[in-house]
Amino acid sequence: MKRDIQLVVLLLSIIGCSLASLTLWKVMASRERALEDINVHGLNLTQALSTYSEGIVRQSSQLLLGLVERLETEGTGPAQIDRLAQLVKRQSPLMPPMSGITIYAKDGRWLMSSNRPTPAGANSSDRAFFIHHRDDPSRAPFIGLPIRSRVTQEWVITISRRFNDQRGEFAGVVAMTLGVENFLQLFGKLDVGHDGAIGLSFADGAMLVRYPFREQDMGRNFSKSPIYAKYLVDQSVGTASFTSSLDGVERLYAFRKSDKLPLVTTVALGKNEALAAWRFEALLSLLVVAALLALTGTIGWLLIRAMSRRDAVESELRLTQQQLLDSNQQLERQAMHDALTGLANRRCFDEALAQEIRRAQRNGTSLGLLMIDIDHFKRYNDTYGHPAGDTCLQQIAALLGACIRRPSDLLARYGGEELAVILPDTDHDGAAVVATLMLERLALQPIPHQGSPFGHVTASIGIACAAGTALDSPSSLLQRADQALYVAKQTGRYRLHVDLAPT
Ligand code: GH3
Ligand code: MG
Ligand code: MG
Repeated sequence: MKRDIQLVVLLLSIIGCSLASLTLWKVMASRERALEDINVHGLNLTQALSTYSEGIVRQSSQLLLGLVERLETEGTGPAQIDRLAQLVKRQSPLMPPMSGITIYAKDGRWLMSSNRPTPAGANSSDRAFFIHHRDDPSRAPFIGLPIRSRVTQEWVITISRRFNDQRGEFAGVVAMTLGVENFLQLFGKLDVGHDGAIGLSFADGAMLVRYPFREQDMGRNFSKSPIYAKYLVDQSVGTASFTSSLDGVERLYAFRKSDKLPLVTTVALGKNEALAAWRFEALLSLLVVAALLALTGTIGWLLIRAMSRRDAVESELRLTQQQLLDSNQQLERQAMHDALTGLANRRCFDEALAQEIRRAQRNGTSLGLLMIDIDHFKRYNDTYGHPAGDTCLQQIAALLGACIRRPSDLLARYGGEELAVILPDTDHDGAAVVATLMLERLALQPIPHQGSPFGHVTASIGIACAAGTALDSPSSLLQRADQALYVAKQTGRYRLHVDLAPT
């Protein structure tokens, strides 16, 4: 039963552990999947944004190239600039919104500006892009760090080209200004959550545009950020996860370096935010499993309790059964034994005698019988009182019992102060030896008896033995032993007498 309970506990533990580990595994696997999905989504976004940025830069470069051609072939006279202004106006639908074209003379003066009136005396010779073209003979387009427009105060990114005069000397710069707002509007349409960010930067970490817009990030160098310092060193596309040193928010980053331009697009999502759906699902799973586990546990507990109760009832039943067996045994003992001396009683003696007679008949062996009667016991009672007589009977039972050696011999209380001994497989001589031993024992450990001429308690013993046909009537053996006892009494007591009738 205990084993059954252990098995139930084992089974429930296995079910519980399996359920818990399976759920945990499923929850962790779905987290991995969610992170993977977020990364793929981020990479796709960087791909789209990178293509968009490349398109704008390429489109702007081409427009600028056309203008450079014109400026170099036709010069920068007022009429030519006017014509160019007209051309730019016509081309403006091709240009991205919130952008403009400005032409600078070789000293930085503004020759023309497409979408705003040229401010008097405006000079951009101090701008980085102007200095770059003036000092670098390369004809390649140049993307500049974001700057604040001196006219509109807007943040703009410049894409510019240098144009030369007929001698090949620096003659000025033509630049397209792209409003940062242009990018921010697009980035803002993409859902990157509360903690997310989208960035367009140079490969060296200088920030061109970042959404959400923060004034202090414009042109800021992020080269120390792990994206540039670690990941972009040996890969141009990838994902990363780290805690921002700026705001302490852990984000999942997807980054992509353009193949054609030194630009990097980054999409970042707040990790906590991005995993919110997964967390909700995981919490739901855990709740359901916890409820299931609780239910299984409760059912298991009820089962175990029922089993324990049955167990208790069964062991109580077993105990009662044992008690019943014990009391039966006790009753049996009481039925066969004398309460005062603890010796076999008359009933037991009668059964044993009948059994031993049958056995002796079967085996052809001799059966000895001693009848013992305590001498002058009435006087003992009279002298010492009845209770002392009882004690004396107990002492004599013990003394005589010690003279019985063989397990098959039986000493019984025949009645009153009379005892009897059945001695299987014993003839006259053997029986006389036992009787003599008994009489000697009474002298060796004497019980004082003032009323007796011997001074101590004595007994007379009658002995009879029988074998073969002489055993056919059990009562005759008893009668002969009784007769022998009578003779012992008559001839002076404290002695044995053997009935020597033929056996
Ligand atoms: P004898 O030597 O001739 O056997 O004399 P006796 O006194 O022993 O014989 P008697 O038969 O006259 O008396 C037996 C006495 O044993 C009578 C009775 O009071 C006493 N007796 C019998 N059973 C018990 C018992 O269980 N307890 C006590 N205390 N006395 C008992
Ligand atoms: Mg008597
Ligand atoms: Mg007597």
